Amino acid sequence: MAGLVAAARSRELGASPGVFEKGDRPGGSMLLSSCVIWRYRTFEDFRAECPGGDPELQRLVFERLDDGIAWLESLGAPVTERETGNPRTVGKRFDPRGLTDALVRAAGEIRLGRTLPEADAPLLLATGGFQGSPELVERYVRPAAPLRLRANRWSAGDGLRLGLECGATTTAGMDEFYGRNMPDAPFDENQFVPLAQLYGRFARVFNERGEEFFAGREVSWSETDLVQATARQPGARAWYVLDDDALEQRVRDRTVAEMVALAPTAVDPAELPFPAPSGARVAVRVAPGITHTIGGLRIDTQARVLDEAMKPIDGLYAAGADAGGISTGGYASGLAAALVLGRIAAESALRAL
Ligand SMILES: Cc1cc2nc3c(=O)[nH]c(=O)nc-3n(C[C@H](O)[C@H](O)[C@H](O)COP(=O)(O)OP(=O)(O)OC[C@H]3O[C@@H](n4cnc5c(N)ncnc54)[C@H](O)[C@@H]3O)c2cc1C
Repeated sequence: MAGLVAAARSRELGASPGVFEKGDRPGGSMLLSSCVIWRYRTFEDFRAECPGGDPELQRLVFERLDDGIAWLESLGAPVTERETGNPRTVGKRFDPRGLTDALVRAAGEIRLGRTLPEADAPLLLATGGFQGSPELVERYVRPAAPLRLRANRWSAGDGLRLGLECGATTTAGMDEFYGRNMPDAPFDENQFVPLAQLYGRFARVFNERGEEFFAGREVSWSETDLVQATARQPGARAWYVLDDDALEQRVRDRTVAEMVALAPTAVDPAELPFPAPSGARVAVRVAPGITHTIGGLRIDTQARVLDEAMKPIDGLYAAGADAGGISTGGYASGLAAALVLGRIAAESALRAL
C-alpha cells in the first residue's frame, strides 16, 4: 500500500520512481485485506485508543486521510461501502483488487521478484513490517511460541534491517502487533478474514492451564489486546469458552455461532484440559495470527527516517508498517497510515531533490 501510493503520487508530481517488489505480485497485504481505510471520528478518541503513538504522526493521519481517500477514488479505485459500520470511525471500504489495480496503473512499472535496489536516489522503505520473520518476531515481540502469519509472506523486516544498518532508531511498541485469534489449525490466505475468531469479548478466555487470564479486563473493540495477551500465554494458545447467550451475539454481519461453526478446533467442553465452567456449550482452541507489527522505524512528519539523535538520515524514508509510532498502545487502520505517509514520503522526497 505505502510503496504503490508513494510511487503513484511521485509520478503524478512528475518523477519517475522505480518500484521494487519482492513478491510475485503487487499489492502486499493490502490485496488480502478487508480494505476498510478508516480513522477515528475524533482525534481525542484516536489518542485515547492509541496512547503510545506519536501525536504529530497521528494528527497527520487524522487530518489528511479524507483527502487521501478522495485521491484514491480519483485514481479510479472502486469504493464498495461508504461507511465503516463502526460509529466511532469514519472511512470507506474499497475493493482490494480494484484498489491494487488502480494504484499499479498510477505507479508505473513494478519490478517483481526484486528486493531493495542499489540506487543513488531517495529510498522509501515500504516493505510492510517484520511479521514474516520468525527471528525478528521472537526478538522484538517475544511471544511464548511462534505465531502463525496472517499477512503476505514477503514482509519479513527487510526495511527494518536496512534502516537499522543506516543508523535508524526504532519507536516504542516494538513488542506490539495487530492480529486476530484464529482457530489453532493451519489456514491459507483466503481464510484470513472468514476464520478470524472475533468474539473474545463474549467468551470466557482460559489458557492451557485453565487460568482465566483476561478476566476483569474489558476487551478492546478490535480485540488486539486480547490477541497480544494470548501470545504471552503458555504455548501462545487460549480457549474461548462459550455459553448459549454468547453464541447468539452478533459481531458485524455474523453471529458468534456462525464464526464458531467454521472453526475446526471447536470441541465439546467435556474435552477441555481443565474443568469446564458451568453453562459452557462449546470451546474453541485459538492461537494468534500476526497481521502486522506496530513498532518500527522512527520517522518525522515528512516520513524521513530518524537516527538516535532524532536527525533525518539523508535520502531515507519509511511508510506503512515499516514506520512505527502511529497505533502504539492500541489499533488504528494500517491502510490509512500507509496511504497518508506514503503520499507524504513522495512529496517530501521530491522537495528534497
Ligand atoms: C486479512 C487482512 C485484513 C486486513 N484488513 C484491514 C482493513 O480492513 N483495514 C486496514 O486499515 N488494514 C487492514 N489490514 C492491514 C493492512 O493490509 C496493512 O496495514 C497494510 O497493507 C500495510 O501497508 P504496507 O504498505 O506497510 O504493507 P503491504 O501492503 O503489505 O506492502 C508491503 C510490500 O512490500 C513487499 N516487500 C517486502 N519486503 C520487500 C523487499 N525487501 N523488497 C521489495 N519489496 C518487499 C511485500 O511483498 C509487499 O508487497 C489487513 C491485513 C490483512 C492481512
